[in-house]
Amino acid sequence: MQSIKNYINGELVDPISETFIENPDPATGAIYSLVPDSDEPDVLKAVTSAAEAYPAWSDRSSLERASFLSSIAGLLRRDLERLSLAESVDNGKPVSLARAIDIPRAASNFEFYATAIQQFSSEAHPMEGTALNYTLRNPIGVAGCISPWNLPLYLFTWKIAPALAAGNCVVAKPSELTPMTAYLLSELCIEAGLPPGVLNIVHGYGHKVGSAITRHPDVPVLSFTGGTKTGATIAATAAPMFKKLSLELGGKNPNIIFADCDYDTMLDTTIRSSFANQGEICLCGSRIYVEQSIYDKFRRDFVARTAALTIDDPLDEKSQLGAIVSKAHMEKILAYVELARQEGGEILVGGKQVYLEGRCRDGWFVAPTVIEGLSSDCRTNQEEIFGPVVTLSPFESEEEVLGFANGTAYGLAASLWTENLTRAHRVANHLQAGIVWINCWMLRDLRTPFGGMKQSGVGREGGIEALRFFTEAKNVCVKI
Ligand code: NDP
Repeated sequence: MQSIKNYINGELVDPISETFIENPDPATGAIYSLVPDSDEPDVLKAVTSAAEAYPAWSDRSSLERASFLSSIAGLLRRDLERLSLAESVDNGKPVSLARAIDIPRAASNFEFYATAIQQFSSEAHPMEGTALNYTLRNPIGVAGCISPWNLPLYLFTWKIAPALAAGNCVVAKPSELTPMTAYLLSELCIEAGLPPGVLNIVHGYGHKVGSAITRHPDVPVLSFTGGTKTGATIAATAAPMFKKLSLELGGKNPNIIFADCDYDTMLDTTIRSSFANQGEICLCGSRIYVEQSIYDKFRRDFVARTAALTIDDPLDEKSQLGAIVSKAHMEKILAYVELARQEGGEILVGGKQVYLEGRCRDGWFVAPTVIEGLSSDCRTNQEEIFGPVVTLSPFESEEEVLGFANGTAYGLAASLWTENLTRAHRVANHLQAGIVWINCWMLRDLRTPFGGMKQSGVGREGGIEALRFFTEAKNVCVKI
């Protein structure tokens, strides 16, 4: 059985405790690898090695740092097939999705920031004949990067790449549920000749490794993606230490469908925005609001399309939905379906565990589920389920649907379907969401600011926002 190793000071090492966590394949339920059960002493080693590497790394030119990032991107693209397979086995997602989205995007993250850092500039503020102010944007030091299990390598590299490009060294922790591609990345960093200590990857539980990174006094900047509750715990530790913090948290995203939309495109995309990656994407639209006049037609078509989705072995190219990441998460999703029933919801399709035959007979699969008849303020419509479960509700007016859409504690993303240009801009402006898609979903330009409002997070990632986050602005005033 393969034992994953930590990547500290340029070397692949076992945890100091020499204890490991069993890592199951969600499609079969079988343990297939072992993950270091690291703890504070491993994090201390990683932070020390990052701090020692920092002066030389931050002194390199941005072009030199970029060339390391480009080399890593090239190796990720070279190993597309191997990494896609690893991501699929580790997470349960269809291998076709990992090949099309997760791994190419991880490579793009490095490519994007290799280029972006060379375009990064800062401001000057001349004071008419008196003085000149200019702003320096210097790296901060050792950055802590903590990421979740749903898009493992994609989100892990989305943090690491800008942190390194800006001249920081990194101590990173992937989710212990999906550590494999982070481990393979550490092998590729060694192959790319990344200097020891520049990137350190410590595997293990959040309450041990994640917490030790968060409270370490020599980690002044933290980038976290994960659940809102965990984000609050991290913020409570980091705030009194005045750490710089970026939090990308949960969502309960509305998908608003007006009767005048391009119906076929909307239907195709809404199937994807509901069930891609088994609904385990923070940007999935889980509350679907449909204008009353097309509600019945939409319900009929959407339920038929949902029922026709193929839930299968993630390694089968035909599989459209794979396994849920863990047994515990599957049980949480099914408990929410039960809650929806108790709240008076009607399950139109799905609502149960799916049992496959053969290799995947002990895997954790949930049928894509559509529920209607729930009020917008019930728990099912307020709390993040993070699985292949959506609710349908009709609406009468723009004002009413804006009330529904904005009526949760979250504010991450929203989708909006209408051919009425004026309405599209008006509604987008009033939606409380960090990201609004009009007549599309998950169309991403890496230059754009990414993040959520309200309990979906603090700060923005992406493009120049991430480079600003991972640098400290210093104003220099020169009297003329
Ligand atoms: P969690 O919050 O449970 O975990 C995220 C990461 O934090 C994991 O690596 C976890 O380790 C670690 N962690 C847990 N406890 C602590 C702690 N006390 N201190 C430091 N680190 C800790 O989220 P999930 O992994 O379950 O991911 C799903 C969540 O992520 C959903 O809420 C989803 O909406 C959100 N998400 C948000 C995105 C966004 O961009 N806004 C994008 C993708 C997901 P461990 O695995 O051991 O628990």
